[in-house]
Amino acid sequence: MSNFVFPPAEIPSSPVRGTDARYAVRRIFCVGRNYADHAREMGADPDREPPFYFTKPAHSLTPSGATVPYPTSTKNYHFEMELVLALGAPVFKVSPEAAIAAIWGYAAGLDMTRRDLQAAAKAAGKPWDTSKGFDQSAVLGDIVRRSELGTLDRGAITLAVNGVEKQHGDLADMIWSQAEIVSNLSHLYHLHPGDLIYTGTPAGVGAVVAGDVLVGRIEGLGEIRLTVGPAE
Ligand code: MN
Repeated sequence: MSNFVFPPAEIPSSPVRGTDARYAVRRIFCVGRNYADHAREMGADPDREPPFYFTKPAHSLTPSGATVPYPTSTKNYHFEMELVLALGAPVFKVSPEAAIAAIWGYAAGLDMTRRDLQAAAKAAGKPWDTSKGFDQSAVLGDIVRRSELGTLDRGAITLAVNGVEKQHGDLADMIWSQAEIVSNLSHLYHLHPGDLIYTGTPAGVGAVVAGDVLVGRIEGLGEIRLTVGPAE
């Protein structure tokens, strides 16, 4: 038993569908632009330049069904509906062909974003931490095991706000496939079980305000839900 000066923080984790066990989260990686139509709506030119990444703290993890306060320091709080990969094996410098075996499960995710701070950071060449890695910014649905589901490389991905559909894409339209993403990221990091990868969002991102209810769906995975509460 170590003697910490403060009790250690709880380990962030997510339910696994069909079991009582939980998936302990280690790191949260996110892919920047990974759908051509979203790249275009953000003013970028979709192409096959290598994927780029940002991260969120593991403690920004928030379960589906939560009500989160409208975040401080923004007037443009955006949703990005995404497929999330949950790794279950250590991989380093792995080929795309071998990378799929490291994907243990899938979940629906919301990469919540302070879009105004992100735009300012982009313009100034500054980091994205405060626009992407803030408290409760990584919303996650229950994890479904790949052994149960098979490899989820196609199917509708949608997001509705107050019952009105805002985002509609297909997993098959990713610029970089999940195998390519895991392979590429494994050349930058030693990846481990507990590492999550948010794989990017299709077009239709937009702002939400207090009182809005977000419901995202990925074919085969089920839904993710978030309610925006008043500002703290
Ligand atoms: Mn995103």
